[in-house]
Amino acid sequence: QQRDPEQVEFQEAVFAVLDSLVPVLEKHPRVIQENLLERLVEPERVIEFRVPWQDDAGSFHVNRGYRVQFNSAIGPYKGGLRFHPSVNLSTVKFLGFEQTFKNSLTGLPIGGGKGGSDFDPKGKSDSEVMRFCQSFMTELARHIGPDLDVPAGDIGVGGREVGYLFGAYKRLRGYQNGVLTGKNLTFGGSLARTEATGYGLLYYTQAMLHANSDQIAGKKIKISGSGNVAIYALQKATEMGATVVTVSDSDGFVYDPAGIDDGVVRQIKEVKRGRIKEYVKEVPTAVYHPGSVWDFDVEYDIALPCATQNEIDEAQAKAMVQQHVKYICEGANMPSDEQAIAVYHENGIAYGPAKAANAGGVAVSALEMSQNSERLSWTFNEVDDRLEKIMHDIFAESEKAAEDYGLAGNYQAGANIAGFKKVAIAMIAQGLV
Ligand code: NDP
Repeated sequence: QQRDPEQVEFQEAVFAVLDSLVPVLEKHPRVIQENLLERLVEPERVIEFRVPWQDDAGSFHVNRGYRVQFNSAIGPYKGGLRFHPSVNLSTVKFLGFEQTFKNSLTGLPIGGGKGGSDFDPKGKSDSEVMRFCQSFMTELARHIGPDLDVPAGDIGVGGREVGYLFGAYKRLRGYQNGVLTGKNLTFGGSLARTEATGYGLLYYTQAMLHANSDQIAGKKIKISGSGNVAIYALQKATEMGATVVTVSDSDGFVYDPAGIDDGVVRQIKEVKRGRIKEYVKEVPTAVYHPGSVWDFDVEYDIALPCATQNEIDEAQAKAMVQQHVKYICEGANMPSDEQAIAVYHENGIAYGPAKAANAGGVAVSALEMSQNSERLSWTFNEVDDRLEKIMHDIFAESEKAAEDYGLAGNYQAGANIAGFKKVAIAMIAQGLV
């Protein structure tokens, strides 16, 4: 805290994890003796760089680029790149820290990293985005590699950006298809990667409901966001027999008690790159409201926040309790603030934290790396089946870790403990790293 007082998001993420680890420290004094926690909260490497680029009118601009290589105890750094004006060192460090535990939970051999830029792709032409990506990669290329650090997409970085970044990398360092994940299927992408985080979120939610002798079919769900995670969470939830009544963007949300149509959302967001407001033009039964979906008063069963960090505060969590929400599983990274999480725990809402519930994306990214290494492509079903198993295993491991440390039903503590243990064992085994 004394070292980086201004890094609010990073500190929030660190304290949430450290809090959960208290029972582990009591059982395993070596963690304290070897000063493991202090080592764990310090990234192995932080890279910050200038990204100059030119717009279509010929004007010059400069943005800031980041890559935080947080922890390589169990494998090469792995984590997405985010392009959004809110990106700063604190955001990237919080995401990289969380990623370390998330990647550990997948059971796959990947370490934690994250990166991005305060560049805003919204409203930019394809050629502006391309020039930006090329400039960004001119610096990043020297720091990444298929066995070293493998970036992927995140907010503002989708298939288009990954393609431009990959093309730029190739010109600088030669063709290495394992250097980025989330690639197009024509040059080494994996089937089911696009769907993975949203589908994975629903597989995790399914396991949580199952553990509570419940099921998804027949449930009413609120989803926030209308990006990659939200769209495929909506699709899978609907397929599982639930009714998703909302989706949103940073301006507002649409509500339809009959259920949101994922085909229409995909058309607006993926094809037209439009705003969610446009949904009501296509589906007249739906209503558009400005503001946050979490302030909207309607009863429902499951909350799936899939937009961004700190989108749910204490008051909104209390509103959830009033609206009889029983489960919350996080598609976005850290969408609930500290006080909101306390409200979930106090009121018996089953809470699936991001690092467990949204690990499906990075899990399939790691499967993309495996396919690239063996120069084979697996079928959609093969990848999807593995994803389903990984998500069910993550839930089971988190549930068991919570039970083992006397915290049964606290899936947040369980995820932190289970993710931590593997990284801790690897760090201790590797000596003073
Ligand atoms: P996208 O850029 O595809 O979509 C983000 C969505 O969230 C958009 O609808 C955006 O609306 C909305 N949003 C952003 N900021 C706000 C805000 N302040 N208030 C309300 N809505 C907002 O990103 P993804 O779907 O990929 O990512 C969403 C979240 O999921 C992020 O937290 C990301 O880190 C996390 N995640 C993503 C993974 C992936 O595989 N894509 C993997 C694991 C986690 P608008 O267009 O108005 O900005």
